[in-house]
Amino acid sequence: MDISTICVHGCEKKFDTTGAVAVPIFASATFAHPGVGQSTGFDYSRSLNPTTVHLEDTAAALEGGRHAVAFSSGMAAVSALIELFSPGEHIIASDDLYGGTFRLFSHISQKNGVKFSYADTLEKIEKEITSSTKAIFVETPSNPMMRVTDISAVAKIAQKNNLLFIVDNTFLTPYFQQPFSLGADIVLHSATKYLGGHNDTLAGLLIVKNDDIAEKLRFIAKTTGGCLSPFDSFLIIRGIKTLAIRMERQQETALKIARWLLQQSAVKKVYYPGLPEHPDYEVSLRQTSGFGGMISFSVANGQAAVKILESVKIIKYAESLGGVESLITYPVLQTHADIPESERIARGIDDCLLRLSVGLEAPDDLIADLKQAFSQ
Ligand SMILES: *Cc1c(COP(=O)(O)O)cnc(C)c1O
Repeated sequence: MDISTICVHGCEKKFDTTGAVAVPIFASATFAHPGVGQSTGFDYSRSLNPTTVHLEDTAAALEGGRHAVAFSSGMAAVSALIELFSPGEHIIASDDLYGGTFRLFSHISQKNGVKFSYADTLEKIEKEITSSTKAIFVETPSNPMMRVTDISAVAKIAQKNNLLFIVDNTFLTPYFQQPFSLGADIVLHSATKYLGGHNDTLAGLLIVKNDDIAEKLRFIAKTTGGCLSPFDSFLIIRGIKTLAIRMERQQETALKIARWLLQQSAVKKVYYPGLPEHPDYEVSLRQTSGFGGMISFSVANGQAAVKILESVKIIKYAESLGGVESLITYPVLQTHADIPESERIARGIDDCLLRLSVGLEAPDDLIADLKQAFSQ
């Protein structure tokens, strides 16, 4: 079945006998038992809730995984994921990470004894592997520099060294990128972004193929309690129904804007993997079926960047991405403010860099908005 059909219909509706076309919101914290020692399969919504299970099974079907666990935010999902590891164990992560993930690793997980190192190339990943290394964590395309990691190549390194391979698939979603088919073990989503798609809900998902890991994650989730509410599960299910059509349109507009940006004298550099000039264009063509709706670009200086942020009208100056409303962010002050300055600059995240999440507005209106902001 094509993924766009799975988006619309989700997984099989197991928990409804009325024929409701939309998934019901099971707004119940707890579930009555039919008898002592018996269960309907649902006991308490921190462990399992029917609406949330519907979202989880849909997410697993979309990614080609077997199990999924939903969380109250992407960060709650990453936090639960890190609970798989013990003090002294080591994780290698891509060095251009979502700022919140970097903050969690360096301020919370590290304090609890999990060790991290960061690598930007396959050779560096291999060099960082030690006897205590347990996992490789990759975000691709990366945020905000839009670098692309060769997922199959990293999967080979992970398999050879018996490491768990985790891919944050927030930017492209299963519609454009299927990490399991390229060798990943765990797929992570901030469902707040494209899966939800409407800038109205926070949610996170961990999707796995392996039954043992799924069981461990379910145990961590119900024990630590960062579960997604049935109302928010419903909103993400509803968002996913239009994922395919949103991704297509957002990508089409992003490509138009990226090409337009390339021609502007105010723009120094454009980072969009769908441009043949992008250093990772070839690997993107190989491993993804699309380039997504995220563009980063740099302008002459910080002053010019600030002026653009303060002049856009249709495009909102706000954190987050992947929704129907176009958003522009200033990574240096927002998403990546917690990364030490020297590391930030080394990664190219300076005060000239802006990140644009292309929404569903008419492409010409977005270009006109940028044009007037550039000329202020
Ligand atoms: C936003 C984001 C997260 C964190 O998700 P929240 O839902 O904001 O907690 C993690 N990874 C990536 C790539 C993100 O963009």
